[in-house]
Amino acid sequence: MLVTREQRLHSRGVQTGSAACSARSAPEGRYSPCSYAEAVAAPNAVVIGGGASGMLTALALSTTMPVQILEPLPGSERRWAYWSRDPLPVGHITSCAALELHLRREDGRQAALQRVIDPYRFRVFSAAALRSATEAAGVRWADVAVDRLELRGDEVVVHYGRGHTLAAWVFDSRPVEQEPATVWMSFSGVEIRTDDAVFPPGRATYMDFRARARDHVRFGYVLPSSSRTALVELVSFAPRGVPVAAREQGLRRYLSDVIGAGRYDVLRRESGDIPLAAVNATPDRGRVIRIGRSAGILKPSTGFGVTRMWRDARLLARAMALDGRPDQRLRSGPGYRYLDAVFLEVIRAQPEAIEPAMAALFGGNPPQRVLRFLDEEASLPEVAAIVASMPKQPFLAAAARLRQS
Ligand SMILES: Cc1cc2nc3c(=O)[nH]c(=O)nc-3n(C[C@H](O)[C@H](O)[C@H](O)COP(=O)(O)OP(=O)(O)OC[C@H]3O[C@@H](n4cnc5c(N)ncnc54)[C@H](O)[C@@H]3O)c2cc1C
Repeated sequence: MLVTREQRLHSRGVQTGSAACSARSAPEGRYSPCSYAEAVAAPNAVVIGGGASGMLTALALSTTMPVQILEPLPGSERRWAYWSRDPLPVGHITSCAALELHLRREDGRQAALQRVIDPYRFRVFSAAALRSATEAAGVRWADVAVDRLELRGDEVVVHYGRGHTLAAWVFDSRPVEQEPATVWMSFSGVEIRTDDAVFPPGRATYMDFRARARDHVRFGYVLPSSSRTALVELVSFAPRGVPVAAREQGLRRYLSDVIGAGRYDVLRRESGDIPLAAVNATPDRGRVIRIGRSAGILKPSTGFGVTRMWRDARLLARAMALDGRPDQRLRSGPGYRYLDAVFLEVIRAQPEAIEPAMAALFGGNPPQRVLRFLDEEASLPEVAAIVASMPKQPFLAAAARLRQS
């Protein structure tokens, strides 16, 4: 006897169609109660969380199967920056072909480095643009918060509010409770519009150590979208999160004293604290696959993640298409993991060594080589050249401490 998916769902206690419509009301959102109920009743893949990794994973998977995103807080105003040769499949707010760094070298001299990064670009996109890309690819959204997951044989029951849905595969980007941290990366940023033209369009300031702090690693970061508009961030790496008030005060000073922003309007604010550690990710559970930050996808030494999320998403989608299982993932090799662990240990224990190290890294290597290294795509001779260009003492001392711990 041929059993339809609908009959199979009913036999498992899941209501579909009009039964589901009358049995529960749909949450506020873009679906009518009936289409909502149908949407959540029989997805092939459910993505939990509509942040960066959820949207990128849904976008990649949508080429192979129907996908639905469950996200309780839609309409995020977030923006993400990344560098890459090829753009992500999303509309961009800005694209910069040059990088600027302001730092002090090992001999104490202040240096301003400008580097053309062609064929790379530094780009910025918004959450709204990525959401539009997922919708254009046929991904469906529901505004619900997932409460719990129940693993049942070859399917997963996803419970939310007063309803539940079945999924063949779940891709879960919810944050985990206790993430390991060697150091914390704390951000405070504003998107501003200045009265005067103060930003060089097309040139991103990647690290501006003129915003340096006494007791931890701190730098400014500027991504202009025109000569009068830019995202300006103050980024700290410290053993503990830096209090928001101190960050915001530092950001105001950076804007007025270093950038010389003059009078400006704040269009948007963002802030956050991310734990960074070069350790293994939260493990998957059967058909529940961890993605994004909770899958340990962020590059521990930079805190950047969206290009890695996209690479991971494409591997997942390819594996689903070829094997019917998400058995290909982006994983850092042991060499890069080790280098990240050493770098975080220098940040933790010898923060004053980071600025000269960055001066040596960007001053002593072509920027494309540095970006390939940070993307974990450098050849062995390139990695050797980068390691050779760095100051030895802080990194050897950090490696020795790691060996003892
Ligand atoms: C302020 C800040 C700026 C950053 N900027 C950049 C950047 O420019 N470039 C870059 O590469 N990286 C950046 N990062 C690092 C990293 O890429 C981002 O944190 C990224 O958003 C992580 O993606 P994610 O999908 O893992 O988590 P998130 O984007 O945080 O997404 C998780 C989603 O899960 C949802 N969720 C939570 N609980 C539930 C639930 N119960 N049910 C359903 N959904 C739920 C949340 O609402 C959220 O939308 C930044 C981090 C911060 C904090």
